[in-house]
Amino acid sequence: MPPAATADVDAHFDAAVASLRSFGLPPTPQNYAIWYEYHAGRNDALRRALTVALTNRRSIDSHMMAELHDLFFADTVERRVAREARATLREAAGRILEAGVDAERYGETLSEAAVTIDGDSSGLAAMIARLAEETTALSARSAELGQALRQSGDRIADLEKKLAAAHDAALTDSLTALPNRRAFDAMVREHAGLAMNTGEALSLLMVDIDHFKQVNDAWGHAVGDAVLRLVAATLDQQRPPTARVARYGGEEFAMLLPATPLHEAAGHAERLRGTLAARRISLRANAAPIGSVTVSVGAARYEPAEPISVWIERADAALYRAKREGRNRVVVLDGAAAATG
Ligand code: GH3
Ligand code: MG
Ligand code: MG
Repeated sequence: MPPAATADVDAHFDAAVASLRSFGLPPTPQNYAIWYEYHAGRNDALRRALTVALTNRRSIDSHMMAELHDLFFADTVERRVAREARATLREAAGRILEAGVDAERYGETLSEAAVTIDGDSSGLAAMIARLAEETTALSARSAELGQALRQSGDRIADLEKKLAAAHDAALTDSLTALPNRRAFDAMVREHAGLAMNTGEALSLLMVDIDHFKQVNDAWGHAVGDAVLRLVAATLDQQRPPTARVARYGGEEFAMLLPATPLHEAAGHAERLRGTLAARRISLRANAAPIGSVTVSVGAARYEPAEPISVWIERADAALYRAKREGRNRVVVLDGAAAATG
């Protein structure tokens, strides 16, 4: 390796170590990998995710690291199952090719027999014996092959089921059962494409729980999880029929509203905010009151042909403004407003 590259590696490594230290993150291989990539600047999407988190002063903690790792590095179950399925298919294809070779050899013996029979008949008995032998071998091999292929078929069918399950799991957040960030990214691309074609409005809400860290600190992580599920369920129940909801990460959710102008989207956001703020939450175990959980919401509409990342950053900027202006509120940013600051 040339010296410059080694120096780069050292520099990225040192920067990664410094980042881990400054955020109080444990020095796990996953955390190193994330911050190394961040400082090396090779992974744009990862860099953007962390830059947004840093500028909006989100808690950079183990939760966020786990999410980022899952999003950008983890070899998901889905990929593993797909690999297994490919290997099984290759094996089956190999068997079929082998069988082809066997049949070819049999064919050769047959034509050899034909030539022999036409010419002289002295070796006929021997030839018939050989044919009989090869026929038996081929049919035995075919039976064997049939069985092996059936087994491969069963395994492939089984893997197909596993693959479908892994695919669903890879797109679902296990805590809230909502579509996860990965699913959301795909949804956004799909709907932005549709909006470009139809010219229909497409709005996005970014919803973030206010002072959620305090819920964890005061009541513990399990209660924090229950609050996340409650907010997720509320979002899902209150969403307009065509809207799509996802857990964007941590205590942040996203709602995509197809065919919805920005002012209508803001109306939905306001109703959702009001519903949550009015609800009094208490612990199921001893009815101890937790009080209310509020959310801040940023809303932005898709400006046709703009990069999706720009649109999401605008919704995020609106959300951040809602936080700065006191939380428990909805802020709308349209493209023009964002451009002029
Ligand atoms: P703000 O009003 O500015 O949004 O403050 P906040 O405390 O809600 O935001 P911050 O980003 O500082 O903290 C979010 C916390 O959410 C930190 C993180 O540990 C916690 N968190 C993220 N994912 C989970 C989770 O799955 N379960 C629980 N219980 N906590 C989580
Ligand atoms: Mg929050
Ligand atoms: Mg947050």
